[in-house]
Amino acid sequence: MAIDPVCGKEVDEAKLREQSGTTAYGAKEVDPTVGTRRFHNGKWYYFDSMECRSKFMASPDRYLNPGAAPARPARQRGGEE
Ligand SMILES: [Zn+2]
Repeated sequence: MAIDPVCGKEVDEAKLREQSGTTAYGAKEVDPTVGTRRFHNGKWYYFDSMECRSKFMASPDRYLNPGAAPARPARQRGGEE
C-alpha cells in the first residue's frame, strides 16, 4: 500500500499497475504525468483521485515537506525517508 501524500488515504498501487496500461480512472499510463500516479523527484507517488494528484502537482513540496509551509498535515509514508 502507498499513502496518498495529499489526503493521507491508503492507495493500492499494485492494483493500479495491474490494470493493463491504464489507471483506475482510465488514463493511459504511457505518460507518467497522466493518471493517478505521479513520478516526482525519483519516486512514484500514488493518489486516490485526480483531485489529489492535481493538488500535489500544483505544489509537491507542500505535501512532501509539511513543515516548510502551513498546509494540511500529510501523513508519513512508509519506507525510506
Ligand atoms: Zn487523496
